[in-house]
Amino acid sequence: MEKKFASQADLAEKKISFVQLGEGAYAYTAEGDPNTGIVIGDDSVMVIDTQATPVMAQDVIRRIREVTDKPIKYVVMSHYHAVRVLGASAYRADHIIASQDTYELIVERGEADMKSEIERFPRLFQSVESIPGLTWPTLVFKDALTLWMGKREVKILQLGRGHTRGDTVVWLPKEKTLFSGDLVEYGATPYAGDAYLQDWPKTLDRLRALRPEKLVPGRGDALVTPGQVEAGLKGTQDFVTQMFASVRAGAQTGKPLRDIYKDTYSSLKPKFGTWVIFDHCMPFDVSRAYDEATQYPDPRIWTAQRDKELWTALEG
Ligand SMILES: [Zn+2]
Repeated sequence: MEKKFASQADLAEKKISFVQLGEGAYAYTAEGDPNTGIVIGDDSVMVIDTQATPVMAQDVIRRIREVTDKPIKYVVMSHYHAVRVLGASAYRADHIIASQDTYELIVERGEADMKSEIERFPRLFQSVESIPGLTWPTLVFKDALTLWMGKREVKILQLGRGHTRGDTVVWLPKEKTLFSGDLVEYGATPYAGDAYLQDWPKTLDRLRALRPEKLVPGRGDALVTPGQVEAGLKGTQDFVTQMFASVRAGAQTGKPLRDIYKDTYSSLKPKFGTWVIFDHCMPFDVSRAYDEATQYPDPRIWTAQRDKELWTALEG
């Protein structure tokens, strides 16, 4: 049977968890759907990734209001992808924080990415009409930004390219808690359509060097012991490394993309095939890996039309 495009067959609602990681730190997770992180300081609240729409964000706000009445002052974008950032307006935050690279990616491809992701994820965008437009950062940093939320130190760090060029993590140094965005996934397939696959494993080493004891991945359950954190880091690293190696080997022997896709899909399926969105991600991941292994150092812009053409070429 033909596979439905991207996540168009994924229509079952997910169960949401709101997990306390420590004093004033929470993870909003949903069985492999995009996660949101929450940090509560002395005087305000920070939200890390917003959910796909303002309507979805309202449920995050409801959970936050069960634990604090402090104002939500900060939204951090771990990267530019629509499913993570287009709910931002719901929080009415004073500041939307992003890396300079993420800002530039929104300028360059935000509009195309929004249209592409709305087609890919109909369930996440079922309240698409509540989105007022692209989410624009109001505070843009390079490399690192330290924010004191009262006595609580929050480090906003760009540690290297991986899932995108602008990947940003939020690090609580005292609590050793890391919010990784899509640089790390757990029980969910890493999406690599906009990735730098040769850099990604090295960037994960830099995350590991922080020695996090708790980690909220981009998708999947919150990781609450050093052993679970390492499993998340290693699983992501293994997937990215093996996927790229398989595609590069195929490209070097001059195989057509469709054959490389079939080979890579079969070789990764036994180990990673149970991770959510495996079938959704694989065509985009293999396509980007092929580009990086051949003639495109930077990811090409996905449009709704390019998405469908690729799907037909690889799955049709
Ligand atoms: Zn992403």
